[in-house]
Amino acid sequence: MRRAGLSLPASGHVLRIIWPFVPVVVALALFSIVSLDLLSAARAFVAGESQWSKGQKNAVLHLLRYGEDRNPADFDAYLAAIAIPLGDHRARLELDRDEPDLERVREGLLAGGNHPEDIPRMVRLYRNFRQIQEVDAAIRVWAAGDQEIAALHEQALALDRLVRQPGCDDDCVAPVLRNIARIDARLTPLERAFSEHLGQASRRVTRLLTNGSAVMATLLLMSAILLTHGPLRRERQLREALAQREEQLQLAVEGSNDGLWDWHLGRGELYFSPRCAQMLGYQADELPHARETVLGLLHPSDLVAFEDKLTRHLRSGEPYDAEFRLRTRAGDYLWVRARGRLVRGAARRRARMAGSLTDISDNKRYERQLFAEKERAQVTLQAIGDAVVTTDVWGRVQSLNPAAEALTGWRDAEAHGLPLSRVCVLRDEDSQAPLPDIVTLALREHWHGQSAQLVQRAASGQPGLVVAVKPSVALIRDRGAQAIGVVVVLHDVSQERAHAARLAYEASHDALTGLVNRAEFERRLGAAITRARTQGTPHTLMYLDLDQFKVVNDTCGHAAGDELIRQMAEIMRSQLRQSDTLARLGGDEFGILLAHCAGADGERVAEALRCAIACFRFAHRQRTFALGVSIGLVTLDRQTGSVAEALSAADAACYMAKEGGRNRVQVYHPLDSVVQARHGEMEWVSRVHAALAAERFCLFAQEIVPVQPGAGPADAGRHVELLLRLVDERGRLVPPMAFVPACERYNLMPMIDRWVVETAFGALAGRQGVAGEDAIATCAINLSGSSLADIHFPEFVREQAQRFGIALDGICFEITETAAIANLAQAGAFIQQLQQLGCCFALDDFGAGMSSFTYLKHLPAAYLKIDGSFVREMLADPVNLVMVEVIQRIGHAMGKKTIAEFVESEAMLERLRELGVDLAQGYHIAPPVPFAPAGPAAGDRPAVALAG
Ligand code: GH3
Ligand code: MG
Repeated sequence: MRRAGLSLPASGHVLRIIWPFVPVVVALALFSIVSLDLLSAARAFVAGESQWSKGQKNAVLHLLRYGEDRNPADFDAYLAAIAIPLGDHRARLELDRDEPDLERVREGLLAGGNHPEDIPRMVRLYRNFRQIQEVDAAIRVWAAGDQEIAALHEQALALDRLVRQPGCDDDCVAPVLRNIARIDARLTPLERAFSEHLGQASRRVTRLLTNGSAVMATLLLMSAILLTHGPLRRERQLREALAQREEQLQLAVEGSNDGLWDWHLGRGELYFSPRCAQMLGYQADELPHARETVLGLLHPSDLVAFEDKLTRHLRSGEPYDAEFRLRTRAGDYLWVRARGRLVRGAARRRARMAGSLTDISDNKRYERQLFAEKERAQVTLQAIGDAVVTTDVWGRVQSLNPAAEALTGWRDAEAHGLPLSRVCVLRDEDSQAPLPDIVTLALREHWHGQSAQLVQRAASGQPGLVVAVKPSVALIRDRGAQAIGVVVVLHDVSQERAHAARLAYEASHDALTGLVNRAEFERRLGAAITRARTQGTPHTLMYLDLDQFKVVNDTCGHAAGDELIRQMAEIMRSQLRQSDTLARLGGDEFGILLAHCAGADGERVAEALRCAIACFRFAHRQRTFALGVSIGLVTLDRQTGSVAEALSAADAACYMAKEGGRNRVQVYHPLDSVVQARHGEMEWVSRVHAALAAERFCLFAQEIVPVQPGAGPADAGRHVELLLRLVDERGRLVPPMAFVPACERYNLMPMIDRWVVETAFGALAGRQGVAGEDAIATCAINLSGSSLADIHFPEFVREQAQRFGIALDGICFEITETAAIANLAQAGAFIQQLQQLGCCFALDDFGAGMSSFTYLKHLPAAYLKIDGSFVREMLADPVNLVMVEVIQRIGHAMGKKTIAEFVESEAMLERLRELGVDLAQGYHIAPPVPFAPAGPAAGDRPAVALAG
């Protein structure tokens, strides 16, 4: 890795380090030059001596030959040969002068056969190194040789003269020739000595130079060591500092867990540290170090932003800090953050960009989670129905949600920073005084939620609306549980209050007439009774029941009936004071409470009411109806008992008014027998409840047998009717006529019918397996009219049959003709539903109603039970006999079987057989016998026939 850091000495510094070497090197160079010069000069002298010797030898040779053959050419050859030593001789003589003529020296040495280039260094050696012993010795030898040469030349000239002398023979020249030979002989050792001295000089110079070179080299080395020591030390220090810095950097990088990158703009190389590769799941050397590597791994969606950031940094120097995704080796994307800086080189040219790479995937994940949390909180706040206001700890508004904007009339942006008390103007509901600052209360934990009034921000010139709110306040705390703000939630309770008021109204008022209902009436009655008892001021209670109201319902429809009830309420209201209470107690029954009005006054008001109603004509389509009202009147005084007793008394009086011919006012007298009977009816309600709880109800069964010979297969099993009985508190059996009217009046029959079905099915299940004549093929169960209106009853029957595992095709439900006709459509649907389950139906008391035959075709009953009153009297009264006959015929014509009840003699049975009646039931045939539950007392009880 290339690392930025301390730089090494630059070229200027290099000069500073090497300059001390320059003189040493120059000295060494000079020394070498001088050495070479000396050696070359020595070599030149040796070469010159060689020329010199050769010339001397040749001269001697030519002289000797000249002495013999006297050929002048030999003498010329001699002259040419001797010119070499003579030339050197002249040069030497000139060199020995204090100020030699170098031209003459040169001419002499050239004549001596020396190379012109060697001449200057020969001169330098001769003149400058004369003091060297070997050089001096050689020169001395040379000087001695020169003397011999001079002698030789004298002999040569003497010889030439002799030769030229005519007549000089060999003997004449012989002495000269001998002299010449002697000279030559002396010269030879001189030449050798000269060569030796020169050789010694040369070796000495070589030694000197070698030693000198060694000294110089040693000096050079020592100075180099001395001179480089300082810079080397500094360099070592620099390197150590650099290594330390590098280590620090490395530690910092490793500690930060970041990767490093270095992009060389010119070459396009992009170096990245092993950590970068490792982040992406690659080995350090697995990814090519090039810019293309990054571009290849970059998420396509991030490319534009990536390039944009880079360009902006390179162009304008904007700090480079980019976040993007890189594909990992596993194929998913890693969020990274790259930060870096452009590094400029010489002349501020862009050179490199380097920086770090951080794995920010965790940050991104937290960011996403945080964002999602924030979004959730925001959306919740936006969607929440309550007004939410947040403030800082100084109570300055920070935010309002849309509900808060709507409630306060302030926009979020407008309210920001304002004191909460200005945006949410709260005041006490009762005193209208401003509430203390709830933020301060919340901070001191003194806030106890209380309802308040919020004054909305006033629109221009208008006073602000007031809304009932229930503020709740909570502190927002930081991690250290320090309060950093407050959340105020304002729950608009105005709608709830309106709703509660509506509910309260609905709970106490009748929807049809808007009058108070039974519950509210009873409450007010209770208060009136209490007042009457405590204050002694009597009041009047009236119980009103419209006469023959059903006629309007039946002839004009239920809606018209409703309208009539409404109009009646209006008429009654018009007859009363504001302080009186008029209530609808249910159906066509009304209650009136005349406060502080009793006795004759009360009766007068009652009479006025009756008159007003009697005079009223209800018009519906082209028909008008006149209605009466039966009014029961009770005076509330100190003797009055409970609310129930007072109402019961008024109801009993009203009942008496009905009994007395309707459309009249009946004042309650406690000793009246009818009133007492009515009272007894009411008592039955509680007695029936007690009997059910104590399981004092039981079922008896009475046989129904075929009248006609072969009318029913005897082996198919018995046909029985189940009859309900109540065992009173003293163990006596009570006939149903004693309590059934009360139960019908007070809507207890559905409950009793269910008890009967459940008990009967249980008993039938217990009898399963009984074969032959004892087996029950058809079991008749009486149902009241109110069960016909119970839409859940068929499902109840199905559940019980399933529970006890009995077949419903053996069950025959008996319903009274009047109950069925009262709501024909409902009864038809009810019968159909149970028929689908397998049950069959019998119409009870058939013929008692006025229009029995009209409805018969709408009721898919299998049996017609001829009303007992016709059967019982049929032998004595021909009209009854005709009735029985008519019912029997019509029943047969419609494919239904007829049953005659109350058959009390054989004569009656015989007569019925003649008339063609199918089945008979009565004491003559079989009295009712205990059926279920099979209690020990049941068998002891007297058998009483109880008609359903
Ligand atoms: P009576 O002289 O004996 O009082 O005979 P009646 O026809 O007035 O019958 P009764 O008072 O026994 O029954 C009142 C009837 O009013 C029973 C029911 O059909 C009918 N009824 C009860 N509540 C409403 C109602 O809210 N609207 C209508 N239209 N009829 C109702
Ligand atoms: Mg009525």
